[in-house]
Amino acid sequence: MPLLADVALPVPLSQAFSYAIPAALADQVRPGARVLCDFGRRRMLGVVLSVGERDAGFDPARLKPIAAVVDAEPVIPAELLAFLQELAAYYFAPIGEVLRLALPAIEREQVRALAVQGELGRPLELGRGKQVGGRRIAFARPTDALEAPGTLRGAAAAVLALLRASGEQPVARLEERFSSARAAVKKLTALGLVALEERERPRDPFFRLPEARDVPPELNEAQSHAAARIVAALDALAGRPPPGAPKAPLGEPTAFLLFGVTGSGKTEVYLRAIEACLARDRGALVMVPEIALTPQLVARFRARFGDDLAVLHSGLSDADRHAMWTSLRAGRVRVAIGARSALFAPVPELGLILVDEEHDGSFKQEEGVRYHARDMALLRAHRAGAACVLGSATPSIESVALVRRGKLADLRLPERAHREATLPEVSIVDLRTKGAGPTGNKLISLPLHRAIEQTLAAKEQMILFLNRRGFAPSVVCDECGTVETCLSCSVALTYHRGRRHRPAGGDEAVPEEEVPRGGRLRCHYCDYAGPLPDRCSACGRPALMLEGLGTERLEATIAEAFPSARVARLDRDVAGKDGAEKVLSRMRDGEVDILVGTQMVTKGHDLPNVTLVGVVNADSALSLPDFRASERGFQLLVQVAGRAGRRDRPGRVLIQTRTPEHPAIFFAAKHDVQGFLERELRDRREVSYPPFARLALVRVDAAEEETAREVTAMVAARAKTCPEGLARRVDVLGPSAAPIARLRGRYRFRVLLRAKERGPLRAAVAVVIEAMKGLDRRARVAIDVDPVAML
Ligand code: ADP
Ligand code: ZN
Repeated sequence: MPLLADVALPVPLSQAFSYAIPAALADQVRPGARVLCDFGRRRMLGVVLSVGERDAGFDPARLKPIAAVVDAEPVIPAELLAFLQELAAYYFAPIGEVLRLALPAIEREQVRALAVQGELGRPLELGRGKQVGGRRIAFARPTDALEAPGTLRGAAAAVLALLRASGEQPVARLEERFSSARAAVKKLTALGLVALEERERPRDPFFRLPEARDVPPELNEAQSHAAARIVAALDALAGRPPPGAPKAPLGEPTAFLLFGVTGSGKTEVYLRAIEACLARDRGALVMVPEIALTPQLVARFRARFGDDLAVLHSGLSDADRHAMWTSLRAGRVRVAIGARSALFAPVPELGLILVDEEHDGSFKQEEGVRYHARDMALLRAHRAGAACVLGSATPSIESVALVRRGKLADLRLPERAHREATLPEVSIVDLRTKGAGPTGNKLISLPLHRAIEQTLAAKEQMILFLNRRGFAPSVVCDECGTVETCLSCSVALTYHRGRRHRPAGGDEAVPEEEVPRGGRLRCHYCDYAGPLPDRCSACGRPALMLEGLGTERLEATIAEAFPSARVARLDRDVAGKDGAEKVLSRMRDGEVDILVGTQMVTKGHDLPNVTLVGVVNADSALSLPDFRASERGFQLLVQVAGRAGRRDRPGRVLIQTRTPEHPAIFFAAKHDVQGFLERELRDRREVSYPPFARLALVRVDAAEEETAREVTAMVAARAKTCPEGLARRVDVLGPSAAPIARLRGRYRFRVLLRAKERGPLRAAVAVVIEAMKGLDRRARVAIDVDPVAML
C-alpha cells in the first residue's frame, strides 16, 4: 500500500510537506532519514519527519514522489527528531531551518556533492562514504587471551604489561615510551594478545596535549548531597518506560538548579553526575557559555573520563565537526561538551544534560532560530527521560522562579570547596566623592591605585574589569559637541588604537586632549572601520576629542602608571583563535601581574593567585534600557568578584560606582545573591515582567524608516484587535522604535506582546504571523519568543 511521508525542507516556511513514497523505497524511508525531493523546480535535501498511511480522501496523483533516499540509517535519532519539532513549534520557527541547526554543515554538503555526481539511488551508510575529517588513530587494547609462559620478552612483554595495567592506549602514545612499540604491538596482535582498532581523532586544540588522569577528591557534605540527589534522579529515570510510552509519575525530581557560590565545586558535582550516568549506560551532554574560554574545564573532563569526549566548538573545521558528530551518532563517544549549539548533539541514550553558568546570555541565539539553549535543555531532557542540572553562582531569575514553582529542585553549595578559601572582601569606591589617583584619570581612583600598588608589592595578581573594549568609547567635537556616529547604525563609533601603533618600548598613555595619529574608528555593531577624521563631521572644525575609557586605554594607562608591572589585556579584540587561552595561560604561569579585560575575564576561570579584582566602572552595565540590566549587572559583579581569593590567600574586590545604592551593587558587595533575587523578583512582579509574565517580541526592520514604521503599526493593530488582545489576556506594548533605532542600515521597530499565560500569547503571535503573510517584502518581521536582548 502506498504510504506518504512528511518531509522538512530547508525553506523558510513553517510546515513540513507531504510526499508519496514509491514502492521501491518503502522500506528505506524512515523518520530521521534524509531524502531528495522535488520542490518547485528544485531538487532539495529534506529530512523525513514521519511516515504514515494515506487517509481516505487521499489522491496519490496530487503528491510528488520522493526521488531518492540518502541514508540507510536515519541521521537524526528519534529522540532528537521529536525534540527539534517541538522546538520549532515553540519558537514559531520553520522546521527546515531548525533541522539545519542540528545537521553539521558537512552532512548537507556531502549530499550536495553526491547529487551533482548523480551517484544517488544506493543509500549511503552512516559515517562511510568519503573519508571526512580527523586522522585515524590506532588504539591497542589487551584481549582476554593469555600468553604461554616465557614466550614474551623485551618491548612486547613491557607493552603488554602496560596495556593490562592501564587499559587501552593509542599506539602513538606507546611509541613515546617504547621506541619499538609498533613492532611489539604487531607481534602481540599476531599472537591474539592485543586487539587493534582504528578510530577517528579530530585534530583539535582541546586535545593537543595529553592529560593525566586525576584522582577524584572526596566530596564535601554539600557536594555529596547534591550528587546523591542527581544519582537518585538517574536511577528513577532508568526505571522509566521508553519515550513514547505513558509516563509514570515520578517521586524523584529530575531537574535541578545547582546554586553554588563561585569556587564551591560545582564542576566536581558535574563530574560525579556524568560518571553515574555513564555507569548506567547512558550518554551525557554538557553545555557551557563559551567553550573557547573553558579549555580548563575540558581538561578536567579529559582528566576524569579520558579523551572519548566530543568537544563541539566554533573553531572546528566542518570535517572535524562531522567526525565528532559521527562518533556520537554511532555511540563510540558518549559525552558531548560544547556551547549553545551542542544542544543538538546526537548523544546516544541521553541520560543527563548539564548547563553550566546557566544564567549566561550566550545561551540565547539572537538570530535565525532565536532559541534559548537553557530552556530547551530542560525540554529535551524531560522528553528524553534524562536528568537536567542547571548550575550557577548567580542563577537567572527565571530558574529561581522555576524552583519556587516546584519545577526545579534546589541544590546548594554554600561554601568554597577549598577549606581555606573564603569569599573576598568587597568595598565600594564612590566615584562622586573619591578623587583620581596619581594618574589623574578619574576612573583610577586613589583607593584603586593604592590597592594595585599593594598587590604588586605582595607579588600577587589582579584583574581590572571594564565593560568597554577599544581605546575611547566615543569621539566628540569640543566645539559643537557632536559625537561621531556610524553611518549605518545609530551608535557612537569607538576609537581603537590597535597594536601596530604602539611604540616598541612599551605602552604610553595618551592624554585626553591629544588625538593620536593612526588607529581606527570602529562600529561595534556592524563591520564599519575607518580612519579617525581630522575634523568634526558636523561643524568641520578640527576639534575632535577622545572621550571615555576603554580596555585598550586602561591597559596603556596602567602600564604607564606601574612601569614595573606586566600588563595584559583580554577582550574580543585579542581573543581571536587561541588568543584568549594564550593570555589566560600566561596569567596562570605567573607571567602577568595585571590582567585588564571585558566580561571575558569574569567567566569561570580558576586563577589561584588573583587576590585583587577592580571593577573600574560598575555603572556602565546598569544603565542599559533593558529590564534585565540590573540582573545582568549583578551577575557580572558577583562573577568577577568570584575570581579573587580562590585559594589560601584572601581576596579583595573594589567596585567603583556613582550609584552605590543601586541594588545590583549593594547586594553584590555583600555577596548576598539571595537578597538580590528577592528584591529583583519583587520588582519584576510589580511591573509584570518575566518571570511573572511571558513575552514575545515582534521585531520589524526595513531599509526605509516609513516602511518599518507602517508595518509595525499594522502588527500592533492586529494584535490589539485579535480576540486575546481585545479580552486583555495579552498586552500589546508599542509600536516603538528599538533602543538602537538603526542597525546595519535598517530601521528597527518593535511590538512587545505580554501575557500571564502561554496559550493566549501563542494565539496572538499566530494572528500576527498570519497577518504578515501577504506582507510588503521590504520589511522583515521576526518573532522572538522569550526575548533576552531588548536592544
Ligand atoms: P565551581 O565550578 O563551583 O566554580 P570548581 O569545581 O572549579 O568550583 O572548584 C573550585 C576548586 O575547588 C577547584 O580547584 C576544585 O578542584 C576544588 N575542589 C572541588 N571540590 C573539592 C573537594 N571536594 N575537595 C577538594 N577540592 C575540591
Ligand atoms: Zn555600524
